[in-house]
Amino acid sequence: MTGVRSDWLDPLRAALDDGPSLPVAWFFRDDDAGWADDRLWPLVEVCAAAGATLDVAAIPEEVTPATGEALSRLAGEAMIAIHQHGRSHINHEATGRSCEFGSARSADDQATDLTAGRDLLEAAIDGPTTGVFVPPWNRCTEVTVGLLAELGFAALSRDESAFATSFPEVRICADWTRLTHEGGLPAVAGSLACAVRRRAAGRAEGDGLTPAVGLMLHHAQLGAADLSALVQLLDLVAYHPGAECVPLASLASMAGATQGAADDDSRT
Ligand SMILES: [Zn+2]
Repeated sequence: MTGVRSDWLDPLRAALDDGPSLPVAWFFRDDDAGWADDRLWPLVEVCAAAGATLDVAAIPEEVTPATGEALSRLAGEAMIAIHQHGRSHINHEATGRSCEFGSARSADDQATDLTAGRDLLEAAIDGPTTGVFVPPWNRCTEVTVGLLAELGFAALSRDESAFATSFPEVRICADWTRLTHEGGLPAVAGSLACAVRRRAAGRAEGDGLTPAVGLMLHHAQLGAADLSALVQLLDLVAYHPGAECVPLASLASMAGATQGAADDDSRT
């Protein structure tokens, strides 16, 4: 950290300074636990130091007993929350974009993968997950969404480009790895600043966006420089009065309550 300037965050700091009196919620979703887990633990430490719970999307078939035990311990200490990230993180599509829960899979196959993945992950962590499903590549079909409701899942988390659904959902709005590859840290700060301003404006207008800023991380892609920058970002978000770190599952509960109220309204 020493010698690393944090002025790359100035646009985000300005957006937070300009924000509403009520803080905007933030969450940090890290995908692909089960792969390169030696890089996951330092990220958990970075978030914990700022008092932020890291939302970990774990690949059920890739979580080893050792990783499952570590995840369970960290969840017990409220340092992380564990969500289900597909079943195997395998692409089943013959053409087009990668998808584990895509149109190439029948409803029966998807249901089997959802429940087998949940059973595997709960066995690995010796307890329940949050009930939030994070589809690999942030993609699934409307069939998947229907199955999540039938099978008792609590919520879904994809990205903001995904199709709309009435199922409770909390979406990420920025991808650390893509943004840093495309435009470095200024691209991250710019994207997050835009997200803060959109949410601040949307809160008044009821624009239907997830009322939170969600940043997607992939620990396997994070080097030392990324972690240093994340320390700076978390330091800003954790202590700025315009921001508040809220676990994804709590946001999902709020989304569920809001959806329930909307459904009630639509019946009257
Ligand atoms: Zn993934």
